[in-house]
Amino acid sequence: AAKAAGGSSCRVFTDALRERADRRLTVENDLRRALQEGELRVHYQPVVDLRDGHRTGFEALVRWAHPRRGLLLPEQFLDVAEDAGLVGLVDGLVLEESLGFLTRHPTARVAVNTSARCLDGTFAPTVARDLDRRGLAPDRLTVELLEGSLVPGDPVTEAELRDLAALGVGVLIDDFGTGYSTLSYLRRLPVTGLKLDRSFVADLPQDPGSDRIAAAVARLADDFGLTSTCEGVETADQARHLAAQGWQSAQGFHFGVPGPEERWFPAGAQGA
Ligand code: C2E
Ligand code: MG
Ligand code: MG
Ligand code: MG
Repeated sequence: AAKAAGGSSCRVFTDALRERADRRLTVENDLRRALQEGELRVHYQPVVDLRDGHRTGFEALVRWAHPRRGLLLPEQFLDVAEDAGLVGLVDGLVLEESLGFLTRHPTARVAVNTSARCLDGTFAPTVARDLDRRGLAPDRLTVELLEGSLVPGDPVTEAELRDLAALGVGVLIDDFGTGYSTLSYLRRLPVTGLKLDRSFVADLPQDPGSDRIAAAVARLADDFGLTSTCEGVETADQARHLAAQGWQSAQGFHFGVPGPEERWFPAGAQGA
């Protein structure tokens, strides 16, 4: 097509890049507006104890209630938020909303996702202050960090994680197994748990490779004294298999899809 149009493939590439840049700018401006107008929402997905299936908490997941495009998922706007330096605002909003959730539901626990980019030295003090201001026990909050976003050896990150752990806030490595230097984090960073990426769960129980990885990571978590959670559990078979491997907690469509607060705490009903 490039030749027929008299251009080179390089030209096509440039057009594609420009299109992408345009899309980014559009989404970015739209997102700035959305932040001001309060269009971001938080959905909560239950986390259950794999041994008996009881709900131990929730993961907070950001959504964008777009006036024209409908409810947008993180994959439709988070990369743009990252590039535009807006992800801190997004994460801050989700944290604030989640602390409100904890205040309204006194026995609930919540895990929030945080870009490691937000660990700039102000994160732990902000969390400490916000928890204190609301009178919330720190162990009701967990912070999930994407393995891929962590910078090993960065002293500010490490200090932040140490401060969070000292507060009693849980710190999980999210999507565990998909990053590059997984094991060095376990040695260096004061994390309290890990969450197995759903790509290792998807082909259970049939796929022998996934089976061995899941079993090995469960043992690893146990050896390091870390909490173990797996994500993306979609069938009863997977749940049984992971429980037998020693996994403590799980989340996934089998147990509950992410939904707004009212789904889990219908209007009027308080507590957990
Ligand atoms: P994550 O932290 O690994 O979250 C789990 C994702 O898996 C969620 O996608 C959830 O809806 C989805 N999921 C849960 N159970 C199942 C299942 O059984 N099967 C399948 N196929 N998927 C399942 P979601 O909500 O689209 O979020 C995607 C990612 O966006 C999250 O992955 C997290 O990395 C990021 N994210 C979400 N909220 C925030 C936020 O507030 N701040 C930041 N920085 N990142 C966020
Ligand atoms: Mg997560
Ligand atoms: Mg995850
Ligand atoms: Mg994931």
